[in-house]
Amino acid sequence: MNRYFLAIIGGGPAGYTAAEKASKAGKDVILFEQNALGGTCLNVGCIPTKSLLYGAKQYYNATHAQKYGVSAENVTFDFAAMQKRKTIVVRKLVAGIKARLNNDHCTVVNGAATVLPPLAPSLEERAGGEVCGVLVSCGDQTYEAENLMICTGSTNFVPPIPGIKDNPAIWDSTDALAATELPASIIIVGGGVIGMEFATLYHELGVPVTVIEAMPSILPNLDPEVVQILLDKYRKAGIQILTSTKVESIDGNTVSISSSSSSTSLTSLTSDKILVSVGRRANLQGLEALDGLEFNRGAIVVDEFCKTNLPNVYACGDVTGKIMLAHVASRQAEVAVGRMLKEIPLQRIAYNAIPSVVYTNPEIASVGITEQQAESMSIPVEVHKLPMTYSGRFMAENEGETGLCKLILDAKNHSVLGVHCIGNPCSEFIAAASFAVRMGYTAAEFRQVVFPHPTVSEILHETIV
Ligand code: NAD
Repeated sequence: MNRYFLAIIGGGPAGYTAAEKASKAGKDVILFEQNALGGTCLNVGCIPTKSLLYGAKQYYNATHAQKYGVSAENVTFDFAAMQKRKTIVVRKLVAGIKARLNNDHCTVVNGAATVLPPLAPSLEERAGGEVCGVLVSCGDQTYEAENLMICTGSTNFVPPIPGIKDNPAIWDSTDALAATELPASIIIVGGGVIGMEFATLYHELGVPVTVIEAMPSILPNLDPEVVQILLDKYRKAGIQILTSTKVESIDGNTVSISSSSSSTSLTSLTSDKILVSVGRRANLQGLEALDGLEFNRGAIVVDEFCKTNLPNVYACGDVTGKIMLAHVASRQAEVAVGRMLKEIPLQRIAYNAIPSVVYTNPEIASVGITEQQAESMSIPVEVHKLPMTYSGRFMAENEGETGLCKLILDAKNHSVLGVHCIGNPCSEFIAAASFAVRMGYTAAEFRQVVFPHPTVSEILHETIV
């Protein structure tokens, strides 16, 4: 039996980043993936949605160009062609990952892996002599490795709402991405990140959209002032958004709701399709033999180096339930492999400086804490804000749009604790704000950074006083 330094289960952003880093360090690595390399992000998440959203934005801009003095007649779109392009983009990127792992001499096994009992004692626990590790089975083969990294990701959560199971009208995000035809109308259950990105896609392609959100606001974890700007724009544009509204049951294409707000007196709604996007859950299949592995709310508990409570067993990405974002997964993988390789100095993840983007139109981008989070943590803060229209470039390219940039400073030492923006293309400059939060810059230090003119990024510079 071949013996590997590292066995990785799952080939998403966590798994393939770990494989690349450990292989480049000259270690023997084996990676198991039951579907396609790239995981949810590349195959049924970030990349396919952004490909489709870009197509929708082209159509939307073409049909809304009069405000820039441009008119186009008979603008049409072909949804099947958009889907085909999305598939090609995904295929090329998956092939790229495959080639990179191949170049790094990482062994990739296509199949579902299962950890076998018992887990041998760790290297440290053995009093010298023979090296021990973990056993993983896949197909009819068994593989041995010194370290195990669990990067099995997450899947769409199916809430216990009567009428969801085996209902052909129900879609999850994977179904929606696979459909070659647009729905005639859609109800989206869950106004979180997935829900609002799909609401954007369908709305821009002319599909009537209703969003049902259980909380008092959509995107409940984001800055409420920023979210309100999106909410006002989307409602004005004709997207029906029902907040504080619960789905009681679903019967075929009809959703029965109850609302605790005055936003609707409706008790039921009907649409062609119903997209359910109410969160994701960690994938834990194949790990049953890891006796004693510690979980918290259905996710694997890890320390600051992504080590689990079991010797030589690490976990990275959505399966840790920390922050379900691809860039968190890949950073966790870098840190975990660094720990495994005993790199000096050991790196840690700055969870306080993780940027996030919601690809609505306009985009929302943020990093660090909100005003509300600061208050709940009893951190005195100063809040500075400017409308995006303060930026010349924004004005030139976003006719009729508003937007906001909010900066949260520590009231005592003026370090940058958070930045929250709405307005295109804030996804492209939030990294500058992440840098400031990560490095603990004070407002005065951040103010010394020169931003190119004319760019919308200058709004960061202007918001700091
Ligand atoms: P989410 O947690 O972002 O949103 C789920 C929403 O559903 C919440 O607002 C919640 O209040 C609501 N909800 C829950 N139960 C409900 C019910 N019964 N009826 C009505 N509303 C209900 O989850 P998601 O949108 O499914 O996304 C899953 C994960 O994927 C998230 O962690 C997200 O960050 C990640 N993701 C990120 C991006 C991105 O970075 N752009 C894109 C897509 C997904």
